[in-house]
Amino acid sequence: MTIDVREATSADTILARCDILAAHSSLPDGLIERVYLSKEHAEVNALAAEWMAEAGMTTWQDAAGNQCGRLEGAVPGLPALLLGSHLDTVPSAGRYDGILGVLTAIAVVQRIRASGRPLPFALEVVAFADEEGTRFGRALLGSRALAGTWDDAWWELRGEDGVTLRDAFTAWGLDPARIGEAARRPEELVGYLEAHIEQGPYLEDENRALGIVSSIAGARRFLVTVIGKAGHSGTPYERRRDALAGAADAIIAIERIARSAQLIATVGHLEVFPDAVNVIPGKVEFSLDLRGEYDSERDRIWTVIQDMLSDICRQRRLRWESVETHSAPAAVCSARLRGVIAEGIRSTGDRRPMSLFSKAGHDAMAVAEIAEIGMLFVRCEGGVSHNPAEHVTEADVAATIDAFERAVLALADETDAAAADSAVSPDGV
Ligand SMILES: [Zn+2]
Repeated sequence: MTIDVREATSADTILARCDILAAHSSLPDGLIERVYLSKEHAEVNALAAEWMAEAGMTTWQDAAGNQCGRLEGAVPGLPALLLGSHLDTVPSAGRYDGILGVLTAIAVVQRIRASGRPLPFALEVVAFADEEGTRFGRALLGSRALAGTWDDAWWELRGEDGVTLRDAFTAWGLDPARIGEAARRPEELVGYLEAHIEQGPYLEDENRALGIVSSIAGARRFLVTVIGKAGHSGTPYERRRDALAGAADAIIAIERIARSAQLIATVGHLEVFPDAVNVIPGKVEFSLDLRGEYDSERDRIWTVIQDMLSDICRQRRLRWESVETHSAPAAVCSARLRGVIAEGIRSTGDRRPMSLFSKAGHDAMAVAEIAEIGMLFVRCEGGVSHNPAEHVTEADVAATIDAFERAVLALADETDAAAADSAVSPDGV
């Protein structure tokens, strides 16, 4: 069988494959849901393996159920440039989040193999099995296994069906005792590149197909409690210590402060005590999720927010306290891989590529523990994702594949040039 590589790696084919994968769902009526260690997970791994093999890769499923493929470089056994994203989805998902990145990676390997150019590194594609955390409530299970940061406490996590992660692993044909075999060592990897839909409107607003990711924001989350005094609604204003009025002031101020610093702050949960129509609220709890491009700026803004809380509470004779419930560092994309992504985008005609940070989490965050990372964002219509309406255009997908291919080749060029330099250097450095 001869394969027309241009056809097999065209945007048209990639979009058709997105449709094929979308049909592997646990939900009826065309809705998509594909969770970790399910029948659908096995089905899409088999399809991805088939496409990887067609692209010239040797394939295997790792100890965490990630589907992997490898194309050797100029000589067998070289460290690998890892390309990937995920094949699992949230409930009622779109058909491109994660999936487009996996299919783009396979297409790029297929093109490079067909070109016959020997690369100074191997190429590996990884289709992560669990990024969204839909089934067990814990995200990035696939990429954490690959990064060697699996936590044995996760074995007892249970899905809605009551099945533990350990039992689901065994039922699917994996061996919990061998999870460590999925871990990759840093010296085996040259870096990690991921293409992903933007899941935001910034590229669309700027009328651009593609963007360079600067960092994946890490979130800090707090539970803030504002304490006043509950009292009858007949209490005069000057005697009230209304915790809800104070919290409302604070929430508006949080939005203003974060907005002016171009940070993302979200108050998504609020509870009022005692929560009665004729009682002045004596206590309010609200959540705060704070994200930024860089940790230092995010942490500085948290200090500003704390000062503001103290000011508002002083004026209203309230108190406040907070508990930090979650903290993750931002994963910063390396200058080298941002550079090759930029070169890839420039090759598609966008001379001054836009740089933006990811407000959502990605597999690259986990892989950043063991390799330098780079990400390419693709415009998605209206910034909509995690929704059946998620949409990308064929032209943007074509640009994605071209840019991603050019990025990989640009890294190969740099690596070849560095090797040539060190070969002519008299002291070998
Ligand atoms: Zn995703």
